[in-house]
Amino acid sequence: GGSASVSMVRQVKLDKESELRVEVPNDTPLRLRLLSGTAEIFGAELPPEIWLNFPPRLKFAVFTWYGATIEMDGTTELDYTADETPMVGYVNVHAILEGRRNRAKASSSNDSDSSQGPRVIVVGPTDSGKSTLSRMLLSWAAKQGWKPTFVDLDIGQGSITIPGCIAATPIEMPIDPVEGIPLDMPLVYFFGHTTPSNNVDLYKVLVKELARMLERQFSGNSESRAAGMVINTMGWIEGVGYELLLHAIDTFNANVVLVLGQEKLWSMLRDVLKNKPNVDVVKLQKSGGVVSRNAKVRQKTRSYRIREYFYGLANDLSPHSNIANFSDLFVYRIGGGPQAPRSALPIGAEPAADPTRLVPVSINRDLLHVVLAISFAKEPDEIISSNVAGFIYITDIDIQRKKITYLAPAAGELPSKYLIVGTLTWLET
Ligand code: ADP
Repeated sequence: GGSASVSMVRQVKLDKESELRVEVPNDTPLRLRLLSGTAEIFGAELPPEIWLNFPPRLKFAVFTWYGATIEMDGTTELDYTADETPMVGYVNVHAILEGRRNRAKASSSNDSDSSQGPRVIVVGPTDSGKSTLSRMLLSWAAKQGWKPTFVDLDIGQGSITIPGCIAATPIEMPIDPVEGIPLDMPLVYFFGHTTPSNNVDLYKVLVKELARMLERQFSGNSESRAAGMVINTMGWIEGVGYELLLHAIDTFNANVVLVLGQEKLWSMLRDVLKNKPNVDVVKLQKSGGVVSRNAKVRQKTRSYRIREYFYGLANDLSPHSNIANFSDLFVYRIGGGPQAPRSALPIGAEPAADPTRLVPVSINRDLLHVVLAISFAKEPDEIISSNVAGFIYITDIDIQRKKITYLAPAAGELPSKYLIVGTLTWLET
């Protein structure tokens, strides 16, 4: 049973193939360590006896294959043990992927088809455990020495960088349960909104750009090609969301589709993909431990992700406040704002806004508290197809002096003067 709000050092004994599910409170961290046996958090093994510090709000499970004793120090929002988990099914998928990686590695590296490792895409409704499953598959692969590529297409709750982006990064080590994905050098494209409906065409363009860039990297790197990729997707699976899933499966040439938590989605995808003999559509059980998050919690999580980008998870980064002249920076928006639905237009009229048109934005107070991306583009017409170097946050606009004050991860000049704005805002708290 669950025990709420108990503060003391206590031990929990886990039987084989069971897990301890923990929700860290909103205001205090939690310490936890492995006392004996072996255990992992979402695929990453716990070091023996070392206290780990879990930040507020984190929700996780300590799973053991063979049995373990865990020690906790601090209050939890909730903690309980569960012996019914889908982990055996998940690790079986991992074993099949391993077989494919080994076959890809053994094949001659100039045959592009047989040297390609598994391209896994994880789909399902929101809060079905997609990110968690992606993380486990990546960590298990990394533990065996592979460097699979993690692709995150979830612009709402992505785990590689701030919200509003799609991104990819190689995973070279099991993912740290506290630190998450290392933010070294991810390949990031800025969409600028937290829902694709703001500009569906742009979303598709960016997915294509990311896929094309990865394809290029794979062609020169047989090691990462054989390791394959794990693609996490959004929880929007109806209507346009479903269309975007099919678009992603197609664009990345996914050959393993893992469907979590929805029979209907699985059967729809199986039917529509049945004429592609190389694509396996696999239904997997959703874990009972997945914590549902309402719209407010999601919004909060997004805000914390942006804070983490600038200040670090444990306030260990010191972002820099910089001042620039209006004339130093060139701000662009992509697309003519949210498109008017055809039904809202006079009969016969076409929606005027070109969704991928580059629109120069004049600097004014509207940019206050907005998060902008710094493009790697060298010319404005490269902006749409370019990935981004990082982000800045506008903290003041002085119209009279034509000065803009912004927060950046570091001091000094920005890597580029071309900035992209969307609808992503943040209120520093
Ligand atoms: P999705 O990507 O489908 O939206 P997530 O994988 O992000 O779902 O899971 C939602 C939340 O549930 C996350 O905070 C995650 O850490 C938590 N979670 C997932 N699996 C478990 C589990 N077995 N025990 C405890 N928490 C879990």
